[in-house]
Amino acid sequence: MLEFSFTPEQETLRDKARAVANKGVEEFGRFNDSWINGFSKEFAQIMANEGWIGMGWPKQYGGSERPSIERVIVAEEMIAAGAPIAAMWFADRQMGPTIITYGTEDQKAEYLPKMLTGETTWCIGMSEPDSGSDLASLSTSAERKGDYFILNGQKIWTSFGDVADYCYLICRTSSEGPPHRGISEIIVPMDLPGIEVSPITDMTMNRHFCEVYFNNVHVPCENLVGTEGEAFKQTMKQLEHERGGIDRLVSNKALYLEALKHADKTDPKVRQEISELESGYHIGKLLVYREVLKQAPAGFSAATKCFCTEHEWKVAQFVNRALGARSLIDDKITRGLAYAPAYTIMGGTSNVMRNIIGERFLGLDREPRQ
Ligand SMILES: Cc1cc2nc3c(=O)[nH]c(=O)nc-3n(C[C@H](O)[C@H](O)[C@H](O)COP(=O)(O)OP(=O)(O)OC[C@H]3O[C@@H](n4cnc5c(N)ncnc54)[C@H](O)[C@@H]3O)c2cc1C
Repeated sequence: MLEFSFTPEQETLRDKARAVANKGVEEFGRFNDSWINGFSKEFAQIMANEGWIGMGWPKQYGGSERPSIERVIVAEEMIAAGAPIAAMWFADRQMGPTIITYGTEDQKAEYLPKMLTGETTWCIGMSEPDSGSDLASLSTSAERKGDYFILNGQKIWTSFGDVADYCYLICRTSSEGPPHRGISEIIVPMDLPGIEVSPITDMTMNRHFCEVYFNNVHVPCENLVGTEGEAFKQTMKQLEHERGGIDRLVSNKALYLEALKHADKTDPKVRQEISELESGYHIGKLLVYREVLKQAPAGFSAATKCFCTEHEWKVAQFVNRALGARSLIDDKITRGLAYAPAYTIMGGTSNVMRNIIGERFLGLDREPRQ
């Protein structure tokens, strides 16, 4: 039998993280899907003061080189409690590790310290109105002129676009060759002239989404991250940070725990459903642990994301049934449930994740045989 347990030190860390998360909830409120909807700069500072940003980053760059499982423990407690970690989350999860891997030493010196102190918020400029799943079709352009790239185009669904200090922009520096060539990653300070941000309120009244317009925005060439025109692979790597984490499993755990209190546990169908969901949490966690312990094959985060976000969707259905009318009249719960379709879309849809699993792991043909 597989025995899996944490060390006493890790259990102590979990207790501490739970206490800090609960205090954060008391002070700033409990948020559904708190890694994307719970925005608080003050709580980001608290995370920084605890040393819980950049936990696994190399000491050389200000991180604490702690085992990656410790970051998962802290993140799980934060998100399960609904503590507002969104202001630091993209930097910690994705932009910091990407800059550490592909950035220049100057970029590391410039951007990492203020991520670690929770001062800067980052947004991710990937999706465009006509380019979502098929990222290689993106058209926002960066044309080199002297020491600058001149940016033109539009991004959409840019979470935190209106509050971010920087946008990690995926754009086109060349239209020659196949579509996945000519893509580059550029750090764009959001206060540059020519950037217009228009927030979108979604149907749950959350306001993290934005449209971001770039009109002749001048960005210094030194803001290019990695290799010009060859960033598609970098972006795919970045998406692995986005897809394989605990944030994809426990976004609505707080709602689940609330529903458990009210579910009719004498009903065999409800008991069956709870046992399936509990198993789902266990399986999901094992998948996430495999990712963070680097035991999963490259690209397997597609399967992890698919399983975990579909689990979150099932949790939402359970909460709906268990709480009955309350899920319609309690605003917080209604909003949490209405948000559920987002889980299997953001970070890549389940259909697209299944394509990756089929093509990369099962060796299926890209096109059906004639
Ligand atoms: C809550 C949330 C936060 C987000 N935050 C950000 C952000 O911060 N930055 C950012 O850049 N983007 C963000 N997004 C956008 C997200 O990445 C895209 O919505 C996602 O990649 C899907 O793209 P799309 O919406 O254009 O849908 P499309 O790509 O148009 O897909 C539409 C439908 O077609 C299906 N489909 C498409 N291609 C295929 C295929 N090859 N095979 C099978 N089915 C296919 C899809 O599964 C889907 O059902 C966010 C989205 C959500 C929901």
